[in-house]
Amino acid sequence: MVKETRKVLRTCIACHATEAQETLVRYVSAPDGSLLVDYQHKLPGRGSYTCLNKKCMTQAVQRKAFTRSLKNSQLNVDVEQLISSLQEQVRARVLNLMGMARKASLVSSGSQLVISSLKNPRDIAWVLMANDITQGVGSKVRERTTRANVPLVECFDKAAIGQALGLSERSVLALMKSPLAQTLNQELQRYTYVMGEL
Ligand SMILES: [Zn+2]
Repeated sequence: MVKETRKVLRTCIACHATEAQETLVRYVSAPDGSLLVDYQHKLPGRGSYTCLNKKCMTQAVQRKAFTRSLKNSQLNVDVEQLISSLQEQVRARVLNLMGMARKASLVSSGSQLVISSLKNPRDIAWVLMANDITQGVGSKVRERTTRANVPLVECFDKAAIGQALGLSERSVLALMKSPLAQTLNQELQRYTYVMGEL
């Protein structure tokens, strides 16, 4: 069978750019008149879309584009609320994917194990390090990943990483090369973007 590769396109209600659906943010209106961010495109009902940037999100609110496109004049919209909801949902998605990666045996975690696995880095896609890692261990991880030419991401705290993996606190994890690692990397980049730029 030929795999269907054609992308579903949607239009941003602010700048009217037409983009692949999965790159846009989806919104639906809740029965109580509030506007919900539907980051994973799973909620039922009519959806509206904007680009993933503050400019389009803000314009859509200011120009009442959500109200028009969702045909709901009662809609309560607050752009700061939309942004924080988006940040929360991207964070949850990343942490959830990390849990899936561990269940699929694609994760090694703990500083000892990760540092020793960096001696043979061929299968490692990237390393994630907690932002509250002990300074000494942190420098060691930085040095070893640089030497092994493995990308290093600093994100989340030890408690969040451990919880995502279903373990106690973890300061560092290595992810094995896999399609899941690629997806996770994309989501991590989005997370960094929504936390930094939005
Ligand atoms: Zn746009």
